[in-house]
Amino acid sequence: MLYPRPLAMLIDSFMKLPGIGEKTATRLAFYVVEMQDEDVNQFAKSLLSAKRDLTFCAICGDLTEESPCSICTDSSREQTTILVVEEAKDIVAMENMREYHGLYHVLHGTISPMDGTGPEDINATSLIQRLQNSKIEEVIIGTNATVEGEATAMFLARLIKPSGIKVTRLAHGLSVGSNLEYADEITLLKAVEGRREI
Ligand SMILES: [Zn+2]
Repeated sequence: MLYPRPLAMLIDSFMKLPGIGEKTATRLAFYVVEMQDEDVNQFAKSLLSAKRDLTFCAICGDLTEESPCSICTDSSREQTTILVVEEAKDIVAMENMREYHGLYHVLHGTISPMDGTGPEDINATSLIQRLQNSKIEEVIIGTNATVEGEATAMFLARLIKPSGIKVTRLAHGLSVGSNLEYADEITLLKAVEGRREI
């Protein structure tokens, strides 16, 4: 089907988003054309602002408007625990639970030999640097219960243990293959409470 060029470009743009195929992209593009001008303007502004005004926290790697982020600079949080997660969105899931009051570290990925990603591709070096000269007593590894998540947890445990810091893994009442961001709050709470040393 040949669409007018601006429409075809919009469809192409939507198709760059995860989980959106041509059919959905076409439906969304037609919807945008029918939207109010001010709503479209706001939408475009939000897209640009999300890219322009967000950065990664230099300490923990979380998405933030200002680095260091509000969690890293919050002295009321427990400074002795770091919860390591795969993605910044996992922090949102944990924070919604309101039961974890320590610090975080975002890996921005996992070790996955199948996909050709190794230890150098995750934000692990900064974690190790962070652990030196810090008050951290426990590192909780909250990578997902997937093959990659497990491999990453094992790698980090081996890396951290020689320093004498306790390394624990979230108890995965989270079923195998599950992602933190989709877990409900009670499951997450149980996962934190039931964490085991690795
Ligand atoms: Zn931070």
